[in-house]
Amino acid sequence: MSRILVTGAAGFLGSFLCDRLLADGHKIIGMDNRVSGQTENLDEAFENNRFSFYDHDVTEFIHVSGEVDAVLHLASLASPVFYRDHPIKTLKVGALGTHKTLGLAKAKDATYLFTSTSEVYGDPEVNPQPESYRGNVDPYGPRSCYDESKRYGESLVRAYRDKHDVDVRVARIFNTYGPRMRLDDGRVIPNFMKQAITGRDLTVYGDGEQTRSFCYVSDMIDGLVALLESEVQEPVNIGNPDERTINELAEVVLEVTGSESGITYEELPPQDPEVRRPDISKARAELGWQPGVGLRDGLHESVEYFRQQINL
Ligand code: NAD
Ligand code: UDP
Repeated sequence: MSRILVTGAAGFLGSFLCDRLLADGHKIIGMDNRVSGQTENLDEAFENNRFSFYDHDVTEFIHVSGEVDAVLHLASLASPVFYRDHPIKTLKVGALGTHKTLGLAKAKDATYLFTSTSEVYGDPEVNPQPESYRGNVDPYGPRSCYDESKRYGESLVRAYRDKHDVDVRVARIFNTYGPRMRLDDGRVIPNFMKQAITGRDLTVYGDGEQTRSFCYVSDMIDGLVALLESEVQEPVNIGNPDERTINELAEVVLEVTGSESGITYEELPPQDPEVRRPDISKARAELGWQPGVGLRDGLHESVEYFRQQINL
Protein backbone atom coordinates (compact mmCIF):
# COMPACT_ATOMS: atom_id res chain seq x y z
CA MET A 1 0.00 0.00 0.00
CA SER A 2 1.27 3.46 -0.94
CA ARG A 3 0.34 6.92 0.34
CA ILE A 4 -0.50 9.09 -2.67
CA LEU A 5 -1.30 12.79 -3.03
CA VAL A 6 -3.74 13.63 -5.85
CA THR A 7 -4.14 17.31 -6.76
CA GLY A 8 -7.28 18.28 -8.67
CA ALA A 9 -9.00 15.48 -6.72
CA ALA A 10 -12.48 17.05 -6.85
CA GLY A 11 -12.34 17.30 -10.64
CA PHE A 12 -13.50 14.90 -13.33
CA LEU A 13 -10.36 12.79 -13.81
CA GLY A 14 -8.93 13.39 -10.32
CA SER A 15 -11.99 11.97 -8.56
CA PHE A 16 -12.03 8.81 -10.72
CA LEU A 17 -8.31 8.37 -10.13
CA CYS A 18 -8.86 8.64 -6.34
CA ASP A 19 -11.64 5.99 -6.51
CA ARG A 20 -9.44 3.66 -8.53
CA LEU A 21 -6.38 4.02 -6.29
CA LEU A 22 -8.54 3.52 -3.17
CA ALA A 23 -9.95 0.35 -4.75
CA ASP A 24 -6.36 -0.77 -5.38
CA GLY A 25 -5.76 -0.47 -1.61
CA HIS A 26 -3.78 2.79 -1.40
CA LYS A 27 -4.08 5.67 1.05
CA ILE A 28 -5.12 8.82 -0.79
CA ILE A 29 -4.74 12.47 0.15
CA GLY A 30 -6.97 14.52 -2.16
CA MET A 31 -6.22 18.22 -2.63
CA ASP A 32 -8.30 20.78 -4.51
CA ASN A 33 -9.37 24.43 -4.17
CA ARG A 34 -12.64 23.63 -6.01
CA VAL A 35 -12.17 26.41 -8.58
CA SER A 36 -13.74 24.08 -11.17
CA GLY A 37 -14.11 20.85 -9.16
CA GLN A 38 -17.09 19.62 -7.15
CA THR A 39 -16.76 17.71 -3.86
CA GLU A 40 -19.82 15.57 -4.80
CA ASN A 41 -17.42 13.82 -7.18
CA LEU A 42 -15.70 12.50 -4.06
CA ASP A 43 -18.82 11.15 -2.29
CA GLU A 44 -17.62 7.57 -2.74
CA ALA A 45 -14.05 8.40 -1.72
CA PHE A 46 -15.19 10.16 1.49
CA GLU A 47 -16.76 6.88 2.63
CA ASN A 48 -13.34 5.25 2.67
CA ASN A 49 -11.21 5.76 5.80
CA ARG A 50 -8.07 5.62 3.66
CA PHE A 51 -9.13 8.93 2.05
CA SER A 52 -8.48 12.43 3.39
CA PHE A 53 -9.12 15.77 1.70
CA TYR A 54 -7.45 19.18 1.89
CA ASP A 55 -9.09 22.30 0.50
CA HIS A 56 -5.90 23.98 -0.68
CA ASP A 57 -4.67 26.07 -3.60
CA VAL A 58 -1.60 24.23 -4.93
CA THR A 59 0.00 27.46 -6.12
CA GLU A 60 0.67 28.12 -2.39
CA PHE A 61 3.21 26.19 -0.30
CA ILE A 62 1.99 22.63 0.29
CA HIS A 63 2.55 20.98 3.64
CA VAL A 64 1.84 17.27 3.99
CA SER A 65 3.13 15.48 7.08
CA GLY A 66 4.49 11.95 6.98
CA GLU A 67 5.64 9.84 4.10
CA VAL A 68 4.31 10.32 0.57
CA ASP A 69 5.12 7.72 -2.08
CA ALA A 70 3.62 9.45 -5.12
CA VAL A 71 2.39 12.92 -6.10
CA LEU A 72 -0.10 13.01 -8.99
CA HIS A 73 -0.60 16.57 -10.21
CA LEU A 74 -3.94 16.93 -12.00
CA ALA A 75 -4.96 20.39 -10.73
CA SER A 76 -5.57 22.82 -13.59
CA LEU A 77 -8.34 24.70 -15.31
CA ALA A 78 -9.01 22.25 -18.13
CA SER A 79 -11.94 23.46 -20.23
CA PRO A 80 -11.22 26.05 -22.95
CA VAL A 81 -14.15 28.14 -21.65
CA PHE A 82 -12.77 28.12 -18.08
CA TYR A 83 -9.19 28.80 -19.00
CA ARG A 84 -10.22 31.65 -21.28
CA ASP A 85 -12.14 33.13 -18.30
CA HIS A 86 -9.28 32.53 -15.83
CA PRO A 87 -6.02 32.84 -17.79
CA ILE A 88 -3.90 33.93 -14.82
CA LYS A 89 -5.15 31.15 -12.53
CA THR A 90 -4.43 28.72 -15.39
CA LEU A 91 -0.87 29.95 -15.82
CA LYS A 92 -0.30 29.90 -12.06
CA VAL A 93 -1.50 26.34 -11.51
CA GLY A 94 0.57 25.03 -14.46
CA ALA A 95 3.67 26.93 -13.37
CA LEU A 96 3.59 27.61 -9.59
CA GLY A 97 1.37 24.59 -8.83
CA THR A 98 3.71 22.30 -10.74
CA HIS A 99 6.69 23.86 -8.95
CA LYS A 100 5.15 23.37 -5.49
CA THR A 101 4.09 19.79 -6.16
CA LEU A 102 7.50 18.92 -7.62
CA GLY A 103 9.13 20.46 -4.53
CA LEU A 104 6.97 18.21 -2.36
CA ALA A 105 7.86 15.14 -4.46
CA LYS A 106 11.55 15.98 -4.12
CA ALA A 107 11.29 16.47 -0.33
CA LYS A 108 9.39 13.19 0.12
CA ASP A 109 11.40 11.23 -2.46
CA ALA A 110 8.08 10.47 -4.17
CA THR A 111 7.30 9.43 -7.74
CA TYR A 112 5.73 12.38 -9.61
CA LEU A 113 3.08 12.24 -12.34
CA PHE A 114 2.25 15.33 -14.37
CA THR A 115 -0.95 15.49 -16.40
CA SER A 116 0.05 17.32 -19.55
CA THR A 117 -2.12 17.60 -22.61
CA SER A 118 -2.44 17.18 -26.35
CA GLU A 119 -2.54 21.00 -26.36
CA VAL A 120 1.26 21.00 -26.12
CA TYR A 121 0.99 20.15 -29.85
CA GLY A 122 -1.20 23.24 -30.42
CA ASP A 123 -2.84 23.30 -33.87
CA PRO A 124 -0.84 20.34 -35.19
CA GLU A 125 0.66 20.21 -38.69
CA VAL A 126 1.07 16.42 -38.45
CA ASN A 127 -1.75 13.98 -37.80
CA PRO A 128 -1.71 11.74 -35.77
CA GLN A 129 0.65 13.34 -33.27
CA PRO A 130 3.56 11.23 -31.96
CA GLU A 131 5.37 12.31 -28.78
CA SER A 132 8.33 13.42 -30.91
CA TYR A 133 6.23 16.15 -32.59
CA ARG A 134 7.23 19.52 -31.14
CA GLY A 135 3.97 21.31 -31.71
CA ASN A 136 2.55 24.44 -33.26
CA VAL A 137 1.59 26.76 -30.40
CA ASP A 138 1.09 30.52 -30.62
CA PRO A 139 2.77 31.84 -27.44
CA TYR A 140 0.64 35.02 -27.52
CA GLY A 141 -2.54 33.33 -28.76
CA PRO A 142 -5.92 32.91 -27.03
CA ARG A 143 -5.14 29.36 -25.82
CA SER A 144 -1.59 30.12 -24.77
CA CYS A 145 -2.37 30.41 -21.03
CA TYR A 146 -3.17 26.70 -21.02
CA ASP A 147 -0.83 25.40 -23.70
CA GLU A 148 2.22 27.27 -22.46
CA SER A 149 1.53 26.52 -18.79
CA LYS A 150 1.56 22.81 -19.64
CA ARG A 151 4.65 23.15 -21.84
CA TYR A 152 6.39 25.02 -19.00
CA GLY A 153 5.15 22.33 -16.58
CA GLU A 154 6.75 19.60 -18.70
CA SER A 155 9.97 21.59 -18.74
CA LEU A 156 9.94 21.90 -14.92
CA VAL A 157 9.32 18.17 -14.60
CA ARG A 158 12.30 17.50 -16.85
CA ALA A 159 14.45 19.87 -14.79
CA TYR A 160 13.52 18.17 -11.49
CA ARG A 161 14.32 14.82 -13.04
CA ASP A 162 17.70 15.98 -14.32
CA LYS A 163 18.72 18.17 -11.40
CA HIS A 164 17.16 16.39 -8.40
CA ASP A 165 16.71 12.87 -9.73
CA VAL A 166 12.94 12.92 -9.11
CA ASP A 167 11.27 9.81 -10.55
CA VAL A 168 8.84 11.42 -13.03
CA ARG A 169 6.00 10.47 -15.40
CA VAL A 170 4.38 12.75 -18.00
CA ALA A 171 0.96 11.86 -19.45
CA ARG A 172 -0.10 13.82 -22.54
CA ILE A 173 -3.86 13.41 -22.19
CA PHE A 174 -6.16 13.73 -25.24
CA ASN A 175 -9.88 14.69 -25.05
CA THR A 176 -11.52 12.55 -22.38
CA TYR A 177 -15.19 12.41 -21.39
CA GLY A 178 -17.61 10.65 -19.08
CA PRO A 179 -19.74 11.09 -15.96
CA ARG A 180 -18.70 13.81 -13.45
CA MET A 181 -17.93 16.40 -16.11
CA ARG A 182 -19.68 19.63 -15.18
CA LEU A 183 -22.79 20.49 -17.19
CA ASP A 184 -21.48 24.04 -17.55
CA ASP A 185 -17.97 22.83 -18.36
CA GLY A 186 -18.19 24.22 -21.91
CA ARG A 187 -16.38 21.24 -23.45
CA VAL A 188 -18.10 19.69 -26.42
CA ILE A 189 -19.51 16.48 -24.91
CA PRO A 190 -21.20 18.09 -21.86
CA ASN A 191 -22.55 20.82 -24.18
CA PHE A 192 -23.97 18.36 -26.72
CA MET A 193 -25.37 16.04 -24.03
CA LYS A 194 -27.13 18.90 -22.25
CA GLN A 195 -28.51 20.28 -25.51
CA ALA A 196 -29.65 16.88 -26.80
CA ILE A 197 -31.36 15.89 -23.53
CA THR A 198 -33.16 19.22 -23.16
CA GLY A 199 -34.25 19.32 -26.82
CA ARG A 200 -32.21 22.36 -27.81
CA ASP A 201 -30.12 22.59 -30.98
CA LEU A 202 -26.58 21.26 -30.72
CA THR A 203 -24.12 24.13 -31.16
CA VAL A 204 -21.45 23.06 -33.64
CA TYR A 205 -18.64 25.61 -33.91
CA GLY A 206 -17.30 26.42 -37.37
CA ASP A 207 -18.25 23.98 -40.13
CA GLY A 208 -17.90 21.02 -37.75
CA GLU A 209 -15.27 19.38 -39.94
CA GLN A 210 -12.51 19.87 -37.31
CA THR A 211 -11.60 16.60 -35.61
CA ARG A 212 -11.00 15.30 -32.11
CA SER A 213 -10.42 11.79 -30.76
CA PHE A 214 -12.47 11.01 -27.66
CA CYS A 215 -11.38 8.67 -24.87
CA TYR A 216 -13.77 7.26 -22.26
CA VAL A 217 -12.78 8.00 -18.68
CA SER A 218 -12.27 4.37 -17.53
CA ASP A 219 -9.73 3.83 -20.33
CA MET A 220 -7.94 7.05 -19.38
CA ILE A 221 -7.70 6.03 -15.71
CA ASP A 222 -6.29 2.61 -16.71
CA GLY A 223 -3.73 4.41 -18.90
CA LEU A 224 -2.68 6.81 -16.14
CA VAL A 225 -2.27 3.97 -13.64
CA ALA A 226 -0.28 1.92 -16.19
CA LEU A 227 2.01 4.91 -16.72
CA LEU A 228 2.44 5.48 -12.98
CA GLU A 229 3.34 1.83 -12.48
CA SER A 230 5.80 1.85 -15.41
CA GLU A 231 9.33 3.22 -15.38
CA VAL A 232 8.80 5.50 -18.41
CA GLN A 233 10.19 8.95 -17.61
CA GLU A 234 9.49 10.45 -21.04
CA PRO A 235 6.09 11.89 -22.10
CA VAL A 236 3.49 9.35 -23.26
CA ASN A 237 0.32 10.11 -25.25
CA ILE A 238 -2.79 8.68 -23.58
CA GLY A 239 -5.99 8.88 -25.58
CA ASN A 240 -8.22 7.07 -28.02
CA PRO A 241 -7.09 7.31 -31.67
CA ASP A 242 -10.67 6.98 -32.99
CA GLU A 243 -10.74 10.37 -34.76
CA ARG A 244 -14.14 11.98 -35.49
CA THR A 245 -15.33 15.24 -36.94
CA ILE A 246 -17.46 17.32 -34.60
CA ASN A 247 -20.36 16.80 -37.05
CA GLU A 248 -19.98 13.02 -36.60
CA LEU A 249 -19.88 13.44 -32.83
CA ALA A 250 -23.11 15.46 -32.95
CA GLU A 251 -24.83 12.65 -34.89
CA VAL A 252 -23.69 9.99 -32.41
CA VAL A 253 -24.88 12.09 -29.44
CA LEU A 254 -28.29 12.54 -31.08
CA GLU A 255 -28.53 8.81 -31.71
CA VAL A 256 -27.43 7.74 -28.22
CA THR A 257 -29.76 10.18 -26.46
CA GLY A 258 -32.64 9.48 -28.88
CA SER A 259 -32.97 13.24 -29.26
CA GLU A 260 -34.87 15.12 -31.97
CA SER A 261 -32.68 18.24 -31.55
CA GLY A 262 -31.34 19.98 -34.62
CA ILE A 263 -27.90 21.47 -35.19
CA THR A 264 -26.96 25.17 -35.22
CA TYR A 265 -23.64 26.32 -36.61
CA GLU A 266 -21.85 28.99 -34.57
CA GLU A 267 -18.61 30.88 -34.94
CA LEU A 268 -15.42 28.84 -34.49
CA PRO A 269 -13.39 30.05 -31.46
CA PRO A 270 -10.09 31.62 -32.55
CA GLN A 271 -7.23 29.17 -33.12
CA ASP A 272 -9.41 26.12 -32.50
CA PRO A 273 -7.16 23.20 -33.59
CA GLU A 274 -8.23 21.73 -36.93
CA VAL A 275 -7.26 18.13 -36.21
CA ARG A 276 -6.23 16.08 -33.20
CA ARG A 277 -5.47 12.39 -32.91
CA PRO A 278 -2.99 10.61 -30.66
CA ASP A 279 -0.35 8.26 -31.98
CA ILE A 280 -0.44 5.74 -29.13
CA SER A 281 2.30 3.38 -30.38
CA LYS A 282 4.44 4.26 -27.38
CA ALA A 283 1.66 3.61 -24.83
CA ARG A 284 0.92 0.29 -26.54
CA ALA A 285 4.56 -0.80 -26.62
CA GLU A 286 5.82 0.55 -23.30
CA LEU A 287 2.74 0.42 -21.07
CA GLY A 288 0.89 -2.46 -22.73
CA TRP A 289 -2.14 -0.16 -22.70
CA GLN A 290 -4.74 0.72 -25.29
CA PRO A 291 -8.31 2.00 -24.99
CA GLY A 292 -11.17 -0.48 -25.26
CA VAL A 293 -14.38 1.58 -25.01
CA GLY A 294 -15.86 2.83 -28.29
CA LEU A 295 -17.51 6.23 -28.63
CA ARG A 296 -21.11 4.94 -28.73
CA ASP A 297 -20.58 2.75 -25.66
CA GLY A 298 -18.85 5.50 -23.71
CA LEU A 299 -21.62 7.97 -24.50
CA HIS A 300 -24.23 5.35 -23.49
CA GLU A 301 -22.44 4.96 -20.15
CA SER A 302 -22.55 8.74 -19.64
CA VAL A 303 -26.15 9.63 -20.59
CA GLU A 304 -27.70 8.74 -17.23
CA TYR A 305 -25.27 10.99 -15.36
CA PHE A 306 -26.06 13.97 -17.61
CA ARG A 307 -29.81 13.34 -17.26
CA GLN A 308 -29.48 13.32 -13.46
CA GLN A 309 -27.49 16.57 -13.48
CA ILE A 310 -30.16 18.26 -15.57
CA ASN A 311 -32.91 17.09 -13.21
CA LEU A 312 -31.13 18.23 -10.03
P1 NAD B 1 -11.35 19.36 -13.99
O1 NAD B 1 -11.52 20.83 -14.16
O2 NAD B 1 -12.56 18.52 -13.84
O3 NAD B 1 -10.40 19.08 -12.74
C1 NAD B 1 -9.30 19.87 -12.41
C2 NAD B 1 -9.35 20.14 -10.91
O4 NAD B 1 -8.25 20.98 -10.54
C3 NAD B 1 -10.62 20.86 -10.46
O5 NAD B 1 -11.25 20.12 -9.42
C4 NAD B 1 -10.12 22.21 -9.95
O6 NAD B 1 -10.91 22.73 -8.88
C5 NAD B 1 -8.69 21.86 -9.52
N1 NAD B 1 -7.79 23.02 -9.46
C6 NAD B 1 -7.57 23.96 -10.41
N2 NAD B 1 -6.70 24.87 -9.97
C7 NAD B 1 -6.32 24.49 -8.72
C8 NAD B 1 -5.45 25.03 -7.75
N3 NAD B 1 -4.73 26.15 -7.97
N4 NAD B 1 -5.29 24.39 -6.55
C9 NAD B 1 -6.00 23.25 -6.31
N5 NAD B 1 -6.86 22.70 -7.19
C10 NAD B 1 -7.02 23.32 -8.38
O7 NAD B 1 -10.45 18.84 -15.22
P2 NAD B 1 -10.11 17.37 -15.70
O8 NAD B 1 -10.72 17.19 -17.02
O9 NAD B 1 -10.38 16.39 -14.63
O10 NAD B 1 -8.54 17.48 -15.92
C11 NAD B 1 -7.59 16.95 -15.01
C12 NAD B 1 -6.17 17.19 -15.54
O11 NAD B 1 -6.04 16.51 -16.81
C13 NAD B 1 -5.86 18.65 -15.81
O12 NAD B 1 -4.53 18.90 -15.45
C14 NAD B 1 -6.05 18.81 -17.30
O13 NAD B 1 -5.25 19.85 -17.81
C15 NAD B 1 -5.61 17.44 -17.80
N6 NAD B 1 -6.23 17.12 -19.10
C16 NAD B 1 -7.54 16.76 -19.18
C17 NAD B 1 -8.11 16.49 -20.42
C18 NAD B 1 -9.54 16.06 -20.56
O14 NAD B 1 -9.99 15.86 -21.70
N7 NAD B 1 -10.30 15.85 -19.51
C19 NAD B 1 -7.33 16.60 -21.59
C20 NAD B 1 -6.00 16.98 -21.47
C21 NAD B 1 -5.45 17.22 -20.21
N1 UDP C 1 -17.24 22.59 -29.94
C1 UDP C 1 -18.44 22.69 -30.61
N2 UDP C 1 -19.56 22.99 -29.90
C2 UDP C 1 -19.56 23.19 -28.56
C3 UDP C 1 -18.33 23.07 -27.86
C4 UDP C 1 -17.18 22.77 -28.58
O1 UDP C 1 -18.50 22.51 -31.85
O2 UDP C 1 -20.64 23.46 -28.00
C5 UDP C 1 -16.03 22.22 -30.70
C6 UDP C 1 -14.79 23.10 -30.44
O3 UDP C 1 -14.81 24.24 -31.27
C7 UDP C 1 -13.69 22.13 -30.78
C8 UDP C 1 -14.23 20.76 -30.35
O4 UDP C 1 -15.65 20.92 -30.28
O5 UDP C 1 -13.44 22.11 -32.15
C9 UDP C 1 -13.73 20.28 -29.00
O6 UDP C 1 -13.90 21.34 -28.08
P1 UDP C 1 -13.65 21.22 -26.51
O7 UDP C 1 -13.95 22.55 -25.92
O8 UDP C 1 -14.36 20.03 -25.99
O9 UDP C 1 -12.09 20.88 -26.34
P2 UDP C 1 -10.76 21.19 -27.16
O10 UDP C 1 -10.46 19.92 -27.85
O11 UDP C 1 -10.97 22.32 -28.13
O12 UDP C 1 -9.79 21.52 -26.09
